[in-house]
Amino acid sequence: MDELTPEQTDELLTDLRRLQADLEAQLANASDRTDTVDLDQPIGRLSRMDAMQQQEMAKEQQRRNKLKLSQIKQALVAAEGDEYGLCRACEEPIAFRRLKASPETPFCLACRAEIERR
Ligand SMILES: [Zn+2]
Repeated sequence: MDELTPEQTDELLTDLRRLQADLEAQLANASDRTDTVDLDQPIGRLSRMDAMQQQEMAKEQQRRNKLKLSQIKQALVAAEGDEYGLCRACEEPIAFRRLKASPETPFCLACRAEIERR
């Protein structure tokens, strides 16, 4: 696999910073939302279940966003050490196409598959 060109690295780092800003904004909004759903309100049984379900989904989404955000931050730290785009398991370059789809990914496709098998 070829290493990233400096232009590709720049492009991906721009994507990463944009993603980071988006996620931080979403997380700020989401914490408002999960705080304001009040399950003690006297609402109907069905809408109460809806509210609980929505709250669960919001929490799950928030968990995933937080994970992604921490991966983004780690990727940006790696970039400072000139190690962005290298798989953290096998240290081989990760394909540009894969990084373009999810620039925060810490592993190459082979290692990701290996981790998911375990
Ligand atoms: Zn790997």
